[in-house]
Amino acid sequence: MSKRTPLIAGNWKMNKTATEGVELVKEISAASVGSHASVNVVLCPPFTALSAVGQAIEGSLIALGAQNIHDKANGAFTGEISASMLRNLHVTHVIIGHSERRSIFGEDDAFVNRKVLAALSATLKPILCVGELLAEREANQTMEVVRRQLEAGLAGVPAAKAESVIIAYEPVWAIGTGKTATPAMAQEVHAFIRKLLAQQFGADTAARILILYGGSMKPDNADALLAEQDIDGGLIGGAALDAKSFTELVRIAAKSLSR
Ligand code: PEP
Repeated sequence: MSKRTPLIAGNWKMNKTATEGVELVKEISAASVGSHASVNVVLCPPFTALSAVGQAIEGSLIALGAQNIHDKANGAFTGEISASMLRNLHVTHVIIGHSERRSIFGEDDAFVNRKVLAALSATLKPILCVGELLAEREANQTMEVVRRQLEAGLAGVPAAKAESVIIAYEPVWAIGTGKTATPAMAQEVHAFIRKLLAQQFGADTAARILILYGGSMKPDNADALLAEQDIDGGLIGGAALDAKSFTELVRIAAKSLSR
């Protein structure tokens, strides 16, 4: 049995107003999500819905995550949000280095790394996203790309804080496309990531770090993905916007722990 409690994280991206977000939380909570400890759940709404969603999940086991931070603590960075601002709203997790941030907003590995370090300094758990483009997979560069993003993203992370880091392997060609990596393809990369984590932080610590899969995870493919030894949960985009599919994913993940 895995030593790791599975985690299902919903990345709402630029969807849901605060009012719509609270409605979604009500539907999710009605299905008893966040009332038992066999699976951890994090919701990552847009910044504008953090406060309202935070209030709506109060008293449940659902945690609050953000989708991005700036690496600086404060200052003249118009439009940006710092780690301490998020902590003040009781945010505990933050997605960093999502492929949409890398490709649309030009975030490079060095910036991603500074954000990871800023998150850890503020006791936020970074969900560091790594993953290859379709062209990179077709050119057999998947492991090289994942190694570069992981090693650069985690540079300077002290071993004592490594267990606060969560990795999300998200093959870019599978995000929002309906194409999913097969369980075997995903497991191969997850095992490789855990090997790299062991090299950096030691095997015991690496065995405790969560590695999520992301990329069109849905109720009909989650069971097989979560059955793999090194897949500890999911970072969910599209399916997190629908209460029925999200709660079903949480139920499947809870079941995967008892295997
Ligand atoms: C994501 O954006 O992190 C993601 C995995 O999206 P989707 O589930 O829609 O592929």
